[in-house]
Amino acid sequence: LASKQAHPKPTIIEVGPVKIGGGHMAMIAGPCAVESEERMESIAKSVRAAGANIFRGGAFKPRTSPYSFQGLGEDGLKILRDVGARHGMPVVTEVVDPRNVELVCEYADMLQLGARNMQNFVLLTEVGRTNKPVLLKRGMSATVADFLMSAEYIMAQGNSNVVLCERGVKGFDPATRNTFDVALVPQIHKLSHLPIIVDPSHATGRPDLIPACALAGVAAGADGVHIEVHDKPEEAMSDGPQALLPKQYAELMDQIRKVGAAV
Ligand code: PEP
Ligand code: MN
Repeated sequence: LASKQAHPKPTIIEVGPVKIGGGHMAMIAGPCAVESEERMESIAKSVRAAGANIFRGGAFKPRTSPYSFQGLGEDGLKILRDVGARHGMPVVTEVVDPRNVELVCEYADMLQLGARNMQNFVLLTEVGRTNKPVLLKRGMSATVADFLMSAEYIMAQGNSNVVLCERGVKGFDPATRNTFDVALVPQIHKLSHLPIIVDPSHATGRPDLIPACALAGVAAGADGVHIEVHDKPEEAMSDGPQALLPKQYAELMDQIRKVGAAV
């Protein structure tokens, strides 16, 4: 179902009023985690002004340590939905537990499946039974074939609204958090009709490398860019070190426009 043979033309996925694929770009931005209504309000205002069209924030965080902040849960979902609506942006948030799919669907316009859950087949199946658009992130050591098979799990249940996301794979060099695999973008476009976006925030973990990798992704044909933005990264509850400041995000959006993207 995900292959180009099945469907030769690029699929366009709709998330509220936003179209993704076939020349339409998803500019997803927001903090790693939903922290408070005030913080979300100020971040939403600035990313919207810069040109973001989908607002993000995790309410259920898949943290490496069980003692790290796990997210605000349903309270976080409410904040994300309300703030997104006030600023005219549909919202995407991660679902980590098959038991919460219904709950997250009540609040989110798009469901994110994180790298750590790319092969959680129970979760993929549950999400496939909904009609919500899905942002499927590549597992940190998933091959292209593995990645497309995970999309297939969702689509096999009847939900074909899948947007893929390259977010870096495990490398050997701790200088970057992960290794940004920009070649995945043209590979996916060759093999599949599904849109693919890039997430240079998780792929590099470094604000100094994010702009170049975002631009490389766009130049390679990505159908969108996913960026973590925080107005006080040093106070962030998760992924602070990789967050762009609102001003840096606005500068990056200008650069993305200069390489020809209509965003
Ligand atoms: C995130 O988007 O905050 C996240 C946890 O991403 P990933 O699953 O790519 O690590
Ligand atoms: Mn994050």
